[in-house]
Amino acid sequence: MTAHDSERIGLTAGPISAANGVICPACGGANPDDAVFCGHPGCHKALGEFKYVLEELLAARSRIERLADGVAQFAGKPPFIAVHAIWFGLWVLANGRVFGALPVFDEYPYSLLGLVLAVEAIFITGFVLISQNHQTAYSEKRAELDYEITIRSYRKLMELERRLETLKPAPSSEGKQTP
Ligand SMILES: [Zn+2]
Repeated sequence: MTAHDSERIGLTAGPISAANGVICPACGGANPDDAVFCGHPGCHKALGEFKYVLEELLAARSRIERLADGVAQFAGKPPFIAVHAIWFGLWVLANGRVFGALPVFDEYPYSLLGLVLAVEAIFITGFVLISQNHQTAYSEKRAELDYEITIRSYRKLMELERRLETLKPAPSSEGKQTP
């Protein structure tokens, strides 16, 4: 394998196999020989010889993509529903003069609430779409890398088979058995 090949499939000089295991290039911690990810708290660096696509993509995320991922992650969790339920409840109660001291700021049918929710929906949709594009890019890169590794493994296997063929003695009639 040439240096160019190593670069193409992302072979890294990173993890060092030592007598006492694999040394993590990120935190310098020692891991067992069979470790796939660094086991040190807060590190979780991929220790393979190939590029780890998710790690690369997370490192290359822009600020807006980080924000979009955070929003999309929060919007997909039960607290998102809970926060909205509490918000709507308080809004309706406040405008129903339940809290006597508070002035009514949005009479039934709560058109201000509708406007705020419409704006929120637009932003959340945008963030979710950005996050989904990011996920799609991840899936595509991963599929591409999987394909590349499969093809390289196949070629290596074929090469080994060819070499084994040259080692095999020529078939002779003596070895043949008649049923
Ligand atoms: Zn580490």
